[in-house]
Amino acid sequence: MTGKWVFPAPPAPAVAVIGAEALFPVHRVYCVGRNYPDHVREMGGDPAREPPIFFSKPADAVSPSGRDVPYPGRTSNLHHEIELVVALGRGGRDIAVADALEHVFGYAVGNDLTRRDLQAAARKKGAPWDTAKGFDASAPITPISPADEIGHVNRGRIWLEVNGVLRQQADIADMVWSVPEVIAELSAYYLLGPGDLIFTGTPAGVGPLVAGDRVRGGVEGVGQLEHGISTA
Ligand code: MN
Repeated sequence: MTGKWVFPAPPAPAVAVIGAEALFPVHRVYCVGRNYPDHVREMGGDPAREPPIFFSKPADAVSPSGRDVPYPGRTSNLHHEIELVVALGRGGRDIAVADALEHVFGYAVGNDLTRRDLQAAARKKGAPWDTAKGFDASAPITPISPADEIGHVNRGRIWLEVNGVLRQQADIADMVWSVPEVIAELSAYYLLGPGDLIFTGTPAGVGPLVAGDRVRGGVEGVGQLEHGISTA
């Protein structure tokens, strides 16, 4: 008899935690689309008529802050989307808005990297977004700041700059669905688990990245993300 697996199991995706040796094990990566009215408008939509939506990325799409992201294939329009990320420490289904924050372990800052050209083509055809959103290293993320240390996040500046030039700037308070509302709504669709990450949507100012760019972004009181874009 050999081991349990027919070949060595792939490494478990994980994210560092501020002030801890132990890692946060990533279960799933959920994302919210259309969660800032000004971003809905810049994408040609009407925030009054188009509520937020959910999609997901593979758990191993996480890429630690500081590590370069290789420019992905099959796109010529890779976009940045700076986002507040919620890290769940407890799962559940049909979670009430009033109880939602009890499920939060902490918060991080992430970049929901997007092949915008493939997303536009998928939207036109009513096709899935997977190739536009769920590619390798498509979810750069900072270490997680525990809510025990920083409290919960319902306001604060969110921003992103490319090569030192400001591209995105807004306030977390602008979100259509707040963090508790996102958790409650998502838990009506999925059995949420400890280790789930939720990218909560991006404000206006999304735009292209090219090889050689340096991306820096943050959420006030949470952390600061930094990564380069390398040639594939
Ligand atoms: Mn996004």
